[in-house]
Amino acid sequence: MSTLNGIRSHDFDFYPEPVHGTDAQALLERQRAAFLKEARPDHDQRKARLARLRAAVLAYRSEVEEAISADFGHRSRHETGIMELVGVIQAIDYLTRNLRRFMRPERRHVGFIYRSGRAYVEYQPKGVVGVMAPWNYPFSLTFIPLATALAAGNRVMLKPSELTPRTSELIRRMLADTFPLEEVAVVIGGPDVGAAFSALAFDHLFFTGSTQVGRKVMKAASENLVPVTLELGGKSPVIVARGHVDDRTMSSIVFGKLANAGQTCVAPDYALIHEQDRDAFVAQYKATVARFYPNGPASDDYTSIVSDRHYDRLTLLVEDARHKGASVIAAGLKPESAAGKPRTFPPTLIVGARDDLMVMQEEIFGPILPVRTYRTMVEAIDYVNRRPRPLALYYFGARDAECESLLERTTSGNVGINNTIMHVAQDDLPFGGVGPSGMGAYHGLEGFRAMSHAKGVFIQGRWSFARLLHAPFGKLADLALAATLRKARGRPTGYPSKASS
Ligand code: NAD
Repeated sequence: MSTLNGIRSHDFDFYPEPVHGTDAQALLERQRAAFLKEARPDHDQRKARLARLRAAVLAYRSEVEEAISADFGHRSRHETGIMELVGVIQAIDYLTRNLRRFMRPERRHVGFIYRSGRAYVEYQPKGVVGVMAPWNYPFSLTFIPLATALAAGNRVMLKPSELTPRTSELIRRMLADTFPLEEVAVVIGGPDVGAAFSALAFDHLFFTGSTQVGRKVMKAASENLVPVTLELGGKSPVIVARGHVDDRTMSSIVFGKLANAGQTCVAPDYALIHEQDRDAFVAQYKATVARFYPNGPASDDYTSIVSDRHYDRLTLLVEDARHKGASVIAAGLKPESAAGKPRTFPPTLIVGARDDLMVMQEEIFGPILPVRTYRTMVEAIDYVNRRPRPLALYYFGARDAECESLLERTTSGNVGINNTIMHVAQDDLPFGGVGPSGMGAYHGLEGFRAMSHAKGVFIQGRWSFARLLHAPFGKLADLALAATLRKARGRPTGYPSKASS
């Protein structure tokens, strides 16, 4: 257990009150002062912080499951375990195992004329990192950035979402019990507090949320030139190659689409299916949903929609599709049966989803899957490329020329081949978006480096060829210049004389 001025962190009786937006500036100053005093935490200190975080996650496991379920109306305990707790523990273990390697300074090449010197990069903690989190995975999307920032040696201020108040409050209590305020602090509040938080002069700001709010956050951060990582959303397509609608494909798509009732940033948003496979796709989607959720939406494993506003938004998307003549199919068994479970939205297919449907114009973030058909893979690729660059792109099919061409010609944050969502669980892969789906990445080495400053250091050797180029310039400087430029370009080069220039 850590101490601050001799007080153990769990003795912090003065901390039970939530820290609201107005106190955040004072908190930042306090954390920065503590950071400057400590300078650079060494490997063992960082490892100890990660160990403390890990122990807290395990100790609070059932409280986390309960709080998230209460916030959503209902969330399966298993889903929280698989999609949040496992991810956090895996990330902490990965960072702990690789910490020494990540922290090691990197020797860099030294040019010919500086040969007697040494150059290296050291990855220095940035200072105080601000982390802003969304509601859909309220635990892991707070704790994985937190673990990454701690591994990189930073102090951290967190701002969880107001849409999951019980989980946010639990996170605050849990971290207050685990770390002194100077190391990790939680600021509670809604959009106003979020706006004030994003305007603080952090050393790095890490934001996960919508593209729309991401724009505002980046604008606020730019006032203080705070570097940002933006983990945003968008419409991630799933493309199934001709003839690949089979059991494995469908299980993977249904898993990715219906986990957390589709409230997942990397869920397949819409499907592109070969026109000859359309009917098989619809039939197998329905059968697979029935297999996953034998009691339909009433099944304990099926998650509720987080708020009335989001539920109404999804209802509107379906109404709009129906109104515009698309075929709306409630999938699985007993799709309307969820009495007593709040805000359960049935798994829904929208077949023949044209571009003018609202469901094709905004991120869905719910258990609705629009299906479009294509004739050739070129047509499918062109369709993806006409739209904003997605956070994830999924392909089901053989590793053949079509697959290669898809990989070559499209740009997305990440790609999953013959799976959905599993790329997020690969600790050694960077995770992030591109363009409107995000900026920068975390997880793996990329996460550690995003929260570190790469400081280049050059140490002059005793003897320096470069000193020959100091004033007053004479014959020696001419010779050195000629030799250097000949070496650099492979042929002698002369500066124009002052008279001719
Ligand atoms: P959101 O953008 O509404 O909120 C995210 C955070 O920003 C919250 O803490 C919120 O309080 C705060 N906020 C709200 N308004 C603000 C403002 N004006 N200024 C500053 N902060 C403000 O996002 P959400 O609804 O919580 O989450 C859903 C979105 O997040 C989806 O678009 C989803 O795709 C995306 N997401 C992305 C990832 C990823 O890893 N790329 C992961 C999960 C969710």
